[in-house]
Amino acid sequence: MTDFFVSSLGQVDPLIRQALDAELKRQQTHIEMIASENIVSRAVLDALGHPITNKTLEGYPGHRFHGGGEYVDIVEQAAIDRARELFDCGYVNAQPHSGTQANQAVFFATLKPGDRVLSLNLAAGGHLSHGASPNLSGRWFDAHHYGVDPESGLIDYDQLARSAHDIRPTLLIAGGSAYPRHIDFARMRHIADSVDALLLVDMAHFAGLVAAGVHPSPLPHADVVTCTTTKTLRGPRGGLILARDSSWGSRLQAAIFPGVQGSLHTQIIAAKAVCLGEALGDDFKRYGRQVVDNARGLAATLSANGIRLVSGGTDTHMLLLDLSPQGLRGQQLQDSLAEVHLTSNKNPIPFDSAKTSEWAGLRLGVGAATTRGLQPDDFTLLGEIIARTVTRCSEARPGGIEDDRRQVLALCERYPIYGHDQT
Ligand SMILES: *Cc1c(COP(=O)(O)O)cnc(C)c1O
Repeated sequence: MTDFFVSSLGQVDPLIRQALDAELKRQQTHIEMIASENIVSRAVLDALGHPITNKTLEGYPGHRFHGGGEYVDIVEQAAIDRARELFDCGYVNAQPHSGTQANQAVFFATLKPGDRVLSLNLAAGGHLSHGASPNLSGRWFDAHHYGVDPESGLIDYDQLARSAHDIRPTLLIAGGSAYPRHIDFARMRHIADSVDALLLVDMAHFAGLVAAGVHPSPLPHADVVTCTTTKTLRGPRGGLILARDSSWGSRLQAAIFPGVQGSLHTQIIAAKAVCLGEALGDDFKRYGRQVVDNARGLAATLSANGIRLVSGGTDTHMLLLDLSPQGLRGQQLQDSLAEVHLTSNKNPIPFDSAKTSEWAGLRLGVGAATTRGLQPDDFTLLGEIIARTVTRCSEARPGGIEDDRRQVLALCERYPIYGHDQT
């Protein structure tokens, strides 16, 4: 017998309960190094699992289609106010279900189908939702791309300025998923102005670093800024749209609802409010500083061990390893790191093959492990383990896996997540 309002997931659905338990155990016993991941607080989880999920609402606080929205209004208004304070901006939309939908709404608000867009190419670290051909943004808009300098790995701003003059885009996009360096937002603004384009900065990856004050803010420069709340911002899966002022406000409001979304994901909005509140605190500023220090430390250890980093290092939480000197594919190293309980992802490097199986890159991020509490010394150890794994892969020497795995497991035990009662 189960009681609808009382029975636990374990009583109702053992298959899903076991898979969730196994997933938690996986997170507890592996060091997460995928740059787009993080580990949310218990408070964020509490919001995500709350019955507020039952509430259907469309529209914006104070202007809803359905009744009964008075408490959700408090929650959504808090998310908006906190994001405004955190990023020092005049306009916030807290409703995007994801970073991709935030970008889709910006396209919908600022472009007509067929309009020209200019964005970072995928191999150089761009994002699918910035006009890549398999994405709606690439099918319905005329997307062109800029890239990085082959030597420095940095955005080639001169070439970008020339492309902008040739292409005359309506929308210029800065930001990406695998670009480890600061972007020169003032320069991007200047290029956008020189061709009368709007500037969208997608800060999905580095939003948390901007919030912590350890990364330049795009808000003074961009017409519109999008981000996820998921990555360095350390919140639930979802997106935000921000802007310095409300000149695009009414168009952006209408673009999210009724443009590309329907009702709110109320439990997600609550969790966004919680994570934004956390990000306003001093602990989060310390976290941001620690992320940047840890990423630099990891970069230094890898470089000292002969591993090539695209752009030579990092200004953010992210590193992009170029494995071509070792003749390795990203997939090989991803698989070998998994054997020692380090989770990562293969990635293209600039000018890489279009085939995922041939990609010569591996992307790493320190955001999640820094949330666990790992210190610079621990990242030196991780860097050495990663370097040994590269050697093991490239020279096909299997020895040492167990010892490295033991050291990673020791780190997991020293920096536990969500207590042990959960396992
Ligand atoms: C992760 C990411 C997104 C998309 O986020 P989703 O929430 O997965 O849709 C958008 N833009 C950039 C640059 C990203 O890195």
